[in-house]
Amino acid sequence: MPAPRVVLMAESAVSAVVAELVADHKQRRRDYRREARAVYDWQSAVLAEHLGYTDTILRRRYRGDDLVPWPFPASLAGELKVRSVALKYLEELWSRHVGRYAPWHTEVPKLTIGFRCCLSERPRLRRRRAAAHARTYSHAIYLPLDLLNRTTVLHEVAHLLVPGSNHGPGFCAALIDLWERELGIDRAHAREVAVRFGVEIAPAEVRT
Ligand SMILES: [Zn+2]
Repeated sequence: MPAPRVVLMAESAVSAVVAELVADHKQRRRDYRREARAVYDWQSAVLAEHLGYTDTILRRRYRGDDLVPWPFPASLAGELKVRSVALKYLEELWSRHVGRYAPWHTEVPKLTIGFRCCLSERPRLRRRRAAAHARTYSHAIYLPLDLLNRTTVLHEVAHLLVPGSNHGPGFCAALIDLWERELGIDRAHAREVAVRFGVEIAPAEVRT
């Protein structure tokens, strides 16, 4: 009977297309992770040089960078204070820089601190411990309590200022712009260090 053969052929064509799509998706995820890893390593090198490491590499904490002294008081009043300091810093930071960029949303990003929501939603993050992250579509920044430091907020704000760039050259250009203006890190030096890590940074634009 000819009919089943046609069906079989159609099925194999479909599965070939699906296999190609899956392979393509996996490759893009690998590229995304490689790019992110290189950017994290570059960022750590620049910030460690500028601010100095504290306790553990795992936590990526930098001396003198906390928005409020660590460890935080284990009380509700202490946590509320931490939250208001972080929100104030984000508001000031955003209003200082948003005018030079074209983000998808212009209002101050939504801030979620000490979040739990992503634990079930994003299993990959759960494995890596709950990491700080930004979501450009919902214009939101998520910060675990132990990552309430300026450099983490700067990194997440750069994601929202240049949506769609992931950890690409546009994001990196925004990051060194923020580093220079907020932390006094020379952007030419940050570019030099980036070469060592294979990180690509978009050409400098004239920003005022
Ligand atoms: Zn990032």
